[in-house]
Amino acid sequence: MKKENCGLVAIYGHPEAARLAYFGLYALQHRGQESAGIVTWDGEKLREQRGMGLVADVFSERHLGHELKGSNAIGHIRYSTTGASLLRNAQPFMVHFRDQHLAIGHNGNLLNTLELRRELENEGSLFQTSMDSEIFMHLVAKNCNGVSIEEAVAVACSRIHGAYALLIQANEKIIGVRDPWGFRPLVIGRVGATTVLASETCALDLLDAEYIREVEPGEMVVLEQGKMTARQVLPKRKQRSCIFELIYFARPDSVVFGENVYDRRKAMGAMLAEESMVDADFCMPFPDSGMYAAVGFAQKSGLPYENAMIRNHYVGRTFIQPSQGMRDFGVKVKLNPVKAMIKGKKIVIIEDSIVRGTTIRTRMKKLRELGAKELHLRVSCPPIRYPCYYGIDFSSKGELIAANYSVQDIARFIGLDSLHYLSLNGLMQAVGADYGYCRACFDGHYPELPKAGYGKLCLET
Ligand code: 5GP
Ligand code: MG
Repeated sequence: MKKENCGLVAIYGHPEAARLAYFGLYALQHRGQESAGIVTWDGEKLREQRGMGLVADVFSERHLGHELKGSNAIGHIRYSTTGASLLRNAQPFMVHFRDQHLAIGHNGNLLNTLELRRELENEGSLFQTSMDSEIFMHLVAKNCNGVSIEEAVAVACSRIHGAYALLIQANEKIIGVRDPWGFRPLVIGRVGATTVLASETCALDLLDAEYIREVEPGEMVVLEQGKMTARQVLPKRKQRSCIFELIYFARPDSVVFGENVYDRRKAMGAMLAEESMVDADFCMPFPDSGMYAAVGFAQKSGLPYENAMIRNHYVGRTFIQPSQGMRDFGVKVKLNPVKAMIKGKKIVIIEDSIVRGTTIRTRMKKLRELGAKELHLRVSCPPIRYPCYYGIDFSSKGELIAANYSVQDIARFIGLDSLHYLSLNGLMQAVGADYGYCRACFDGHYPELPKAGYGKLCLET
């Protein structure tokens, strides 16, 4: 299974562009831990460093202070999943044709890649990887005759369907584009004469860059000859930004889709308390992701807030474990309760989301063993019943616990005294209902469906 929820950063106009891109990626590490890469333009050619693992492991002073020369850079980090993790899939992906040196970083997931690849192969294109980005590059190259690179990128964008935030380094230029639905985030910031593009504003904060605005859905921004120009290259659709960015994926100190993530998560927790208050001794989150909704829940309900589950920060995500047995063990390593807090207590637990159910199943069992008197689970989003085609790792329906069991069954199966998921209505109120969000994982209303052959290319990696 291939998944492309990733982090992007671009630095335009700074003598140490690679170092700034490195800091930006560092701030975005939560968006991907599989691989990292930075490409710079040194005035003649592109320079690159890509590697498997965390940002801190992939780049050394040799790269940042010496090899990655240039005042323009793009960087990418890739999300880790059950699929093949190969260096050749690490981005930015580079190509060279005619007098163009191109590099691309992609966050999102395309829906018509097989169709496009067959078409390009029939015209004689040869492919080295099964990445979406390579297909995109072929489209750009094919449409580059006698027009500017941004024209070619615009034509390529009109051919692809699905979710994308793209950064393209084309010689001296940097181009940023967002798909017309606005599924994935991309923001613009500025510090002095330097322009920054990034998936989230927490990357701008670290660079002391001021947040200017989002790249609009269907908009292309071009950084060239010291300035930024912007234009709408694809007609804007009814906006469908990924609501899961606000629930779980983005960092709580970021502004995403114009919303303060911390605030929105607190509002989700407050809404949960409104919908499903219950008498208890205290409430506690499963850290870290549940903490922000738990603050909102505690404030609204008046229940004391306790950090009675402790997180080991030095463990990779439980998600990446290939077998269920390993996943269970991973959760145990990651989350351990404070024993003395649990015995004889009536406890409300706040969790941001349930995907496969591994976390709650193993940890609730533990709380029960430790003598908890009552366990009431409150989840700050609705049941995830449908797979995501736009870049979040909700793979097949078979793995999604809420796609296969009713809420009552889940509560019984896990041995809970009560279970409540935030209603879709409550969630929309918490995030500001008039904004356009994709919530297909909850209601199955997909803004755009995968085309024939979707998923086939992924298996080849
Ligand atoms: P579960 O154990 O139910 O499979 O996963 C749910 C837990 O994983 C939640 O605590 C949630 O914070 C976290 N989570 C939710 N979505 C994702 C995701 O896309 N990737 C990763 N790594 N964790 C997730
Ligand atoms: Mg969590």
